[in-house]
Amino acid sequence: MTALPLGLVGLGTIARNQHLPALAATPGLRLAAIASRNAAEPGLPSYPDIGAMLAAEPALRAVSLCTPPQGRFDQAFAALEAGRHVMLEKPPGATVSEVQALARLAAARGLTLFATWHSREAAAVEEARRLLAGATIRRVEIDWMEDVRHWHPGQEWIWQPGGLGVFDPGINALSILTRILPEPVHALSARLEVPENRQAPIAAAVAMTTASGAPVAARFDWRQTGPQTWDIRVATDGPEIVLRDGGATLVVDGAPRITAEDHEYRRLYARFAALIAAGESEVDLAPLQLVADAFLMAERVATDAFHDPG
Ligand code: NAP
Repeated sequence: MTALPLGLVGLGTIARNQHLPALAATPGLRLAAIASRNAAEPGLPSYPDIGAMLAAEPALRAVSLCTPPQGRFDQAFAALEAGRHVMLEKPPGATVSEVQALARLAAARGLTLFATWHSREAAAVEEARRLLAGATIRRVEIDWMEDVRHWHPGQEWIWQPGGLGVFDPGINALSILTRILPEPVHALSARLEVPENRQAPIAAAVAMTTASGAPVAARFDWRQTGPQTWDIRVATDGPEIVLRDGGATLVVDGAPRITAEDHEYRRLYARFAALIAAGESEVDLAPLQLVADAFLMAERVATDAFHDPG
C-alpha cells in the first residue's frame, strides 16, 4: 500500500502525545509536513499556517487538524477547497452548523471528512454497545470529573467562547453515550457553573432522556483533584453495564470484563485511511448537538474565579 502524504496542523499537547506516534504506526498514511505557529518537527518541512503548507506542498493528499475548535472551520475549509481529505479533532468545530457546512463541501468535492471521537475508540466501547443492543435502558449516570490544572495547564482557548470549558472532556463521555445506547438521547436542562472571570463552565450538570423516557444524568466537573473519574453507568432490564476509565474498562454486573491499553488514535488514523480508500466520510454530530442543546437550555450560575498557574 502506498502511504498517502499528510500534513498536520497545530503541534500542541494532543498532536505530540497521540497524533505523531499514531501516524508513525499507520501504514496507509505518512506525515509529510507540519503547520504550526511556534513549533517544528525535525526532518519535516514546517510552515507558519495551513495556507502556506497547502500552497507549498501540492503532493499532500490529507490534512489532520489538531488545533482548538475555534478557528478550525477556516482551516478545514481551506484544506477541502484545496482538494485535500480532512480529519478533525474532537469537537469537530465550534458550532454544529459550521461542521454541517464542511460536510456539504466535502461531499460536493468528493473528499473524505472524518469528524473523530477518540473516546469511541476506547477498548471497551464496542463491547458495551454490543451488550446494550437489545436491552431496555432504565437509567444512565455519567460522572466525568478531572483536574483542569493537571490536564489543561495554560490552555486559554478552553475558557473562551467556543472552547466548551468542562464540556471539552465532557463531550468525550457524550460521544461514548451516543455510540453505546440503542436509542437516541436528547437534552432537557442543564446547570452550568461558570467562574466569575471566565466565559466557559468549570462544572455542568446535564439532564437528558432517551427516546423511550429513561433518564440520563451527566455530571462534569473540572475541580476534582486526586483520583480522576470517567465513568458511565447504564442500568438495564438485564445486567448493569459500567464503563470506567473513559471507556477502557468494562464491568458487567460488578464483574470486570475488559481492561485494555489505549490504541484510540491508532484506530482513528487506520479508519481515516480506510475512509479515504473507500471514498467515504464520517461525520456524526450527535455529541456536539447535545452540548449545543445543553448551552441553549442552561441555567448559569457564577462560581469562584479560576486562576491558571499553567
Ligand atoms: P493545545 O495543547 O492548546 O494545542 C493546540 C495547538 O493548536 C497549539 O499548540 C497551537 O499549535 C495550535 N493553535 C492554533 N491556533 C490556536 C489558538 N488560537 N490558540 C491556541 N492554540 C492554537 O490543545 P490540545 O490539548 O492539543 O487540544 C487540541 C484539540 O485536541 C482540542 O480540540 C481538544 O479537545 C482535542 N483533544 C485534546 C486532548 C488532550 O488531552 N489535550 C485529548 C483529545 C483531544 P501551534 O503553536 O503549533 O500553532
